[in-house]
Amino acid sequence: MHLIEHYLSLQGEGLHPGKLTYFVRFARCNLSCSWCDSAYTFGKGDEISFEAAANAILGSKAEFVCLTGGEPLLHMEDCVRLIQHFPELHFDIETGGSLDISPVQFPNSSVIMDWKLESSGMTPRMNSAFLKLLRPESDLLKLVTDGSASEIAQMKALIDETENLGFPISVQPVWGIDNLKLAEWVLSLKNPRIQFNLQIHKLIWGPARTGV
Ligand code: SF4
Repeated sequence: MHLIEHYLSLQGEGLHPGKLTYFVRFARCNLSCSWCDSAYTFGKGDEISFEAAANAILGSKAEFVCLTGGEPLLHMEDCVRLIQHFPELHFDIETGGSLDISPVQFPNSSVIMDWKLESSGMTPRMNSAFLKLLRPESDLLKLVTDGSASEIAQMKALIDETENLGFPISVQPVWGIDNLKLAEWVLSLKNPRIQFNLQIHKLIWGPARTGV
């Protein structure tokens, strides 16, 4: 396996914020978001055996494991092997919306699909065929936004277009923008599908710290 880092921390976002979670951060990404906060993952990473990674997960006592990156689905075989190796643990897979998620959709996994809005510069790389695979009972669509009027309109259209698909949607501000304004917009939607998330690990440890 080629990893940038792996460590125990508190989940800062997504479906299980605050939960004790073991993070497995895979190397490389197939996208290039304008506001990327993880460019340190773009290298080839360090090689670690499956057994060493599995032992680290087991020794951590965490019941949640987050497979992230970079883009973890560039390492599909490793992801599937880990998920199947630990049926008693729950896996969150943080992926960028451009790759097929179906191989990692297991009863003990949640796909957190980070759908890229226009300020990322990556919207043309998003694949709506994969978006439609999100499961209402276990997956999440994440929208990271700069809060601009055009992204608000883009999010509203996406929410309306996917209403019958039923999966939950998380609206999350790009670090440093007006959280209150965006939270009030989410509240104004009065839609139980939509949740508002802050990256609490950045609030706790600061935006530049890695390994948390
Ligand atoms: S998908 Fe994530 S890691 Fe890849 S460029 Fe975008 S923000 Fe950075």
